[in-house]
Amino acid sequence: MVYFVGAGPGDMELITVKGMKVLQNADVVIYTGSLVSGNILAYCKEGVQVYNSAEMDLPEVIEAIQQGVDQGKSVVRLHTGDPSIYGAIREQMDELGKRGIEFEIIPGVSSFVAAASRVKAEFTLPGVSQTIIITRKEGRTGSSEGGKLSELAKHRASMAIFLSVQSIGQVVEELLTGYDEDTPVAVVYKATWPEEKIIRGTLKDIAEKVAEEKIDRHAQILVGDFMGSEYELSKLYDASFSHMYRRGKE
Ligand code: SAH
Repeated sequence: MVYFVGAGPGDMELITVKGMKVLQNADVVIYTGSLVSGNILAYCKEGVQVYNSAEMDLPEVIEAIQQGVDQGKSVVRLHTGDPSIYGAIREQMDELGKRGIEFEIIPGVSSFVAAASRVKAEFTLPGVSQTIIITRKEGRTGSSEGGKLSELAKHRASMAIFLSVQSIGQVVEELLTGYDEDTPVAVVYKATWPEEKIIRGTLKDIAEKVAEEKIDRHAQILVGDFMGSEYELSKLYDASFSHMYRRGKE
């Protein structure tokens, strides 16, 4: 059997119980060496065969999976965070599909929610934003249509920007077409890793602060008034609000 497993953001306890169990049972593990914290491999049994996909291209990854399957082994393809977000799993799944190899996906804690937990924020706040935009600056691997940051900024939604901290200056410039310059920004470097760094600022000063800290990879850029001080209390826990499970007080 083949499993695509979300390893979570870094902290080895942030993999799911299900993901941990298949990892403990795995004969072959192919992991994204540059991003998945190596200590997560401590869950594996002795004698496990480990590949680092950072050094492999797609045909080599598929070949490693195929070999494992041919030998009746349990194969885990370990991805950072959740595999469905910038995981490049589609091309692997399609290739396995062509070969008639069955697989299962076990989700993981994506780094954007891990980053929110570290800055102790809620993305969806009544009266502020009920929408989260997950995106990246168009980069080396091609742009997505309609994905220009300046277009997305017009929604003034809560935003989590992946893979873009190396261009923080341009990111800020594009965001300023939609957000005010005092909009809160948090850059979370290696959320939940021991070397985690959190840099807070606004669109006005964040680029400078990030340059000072020399952060140019492996960070989330969180943007929006959800990190500000104003919001409305939720109706759900309002004492006078009735819903399916609770009658409101007069
Ligand atoms: N599938 C992953 C994202 C892979 S793309 C997920 O769900 O999180 C890699 C990018 O994710 C990095 O450039 C960075 O922007 C972000 N990222 C991954 N792990 C991170 C972490 N622990 N802290 C902050 N950002 C992280």
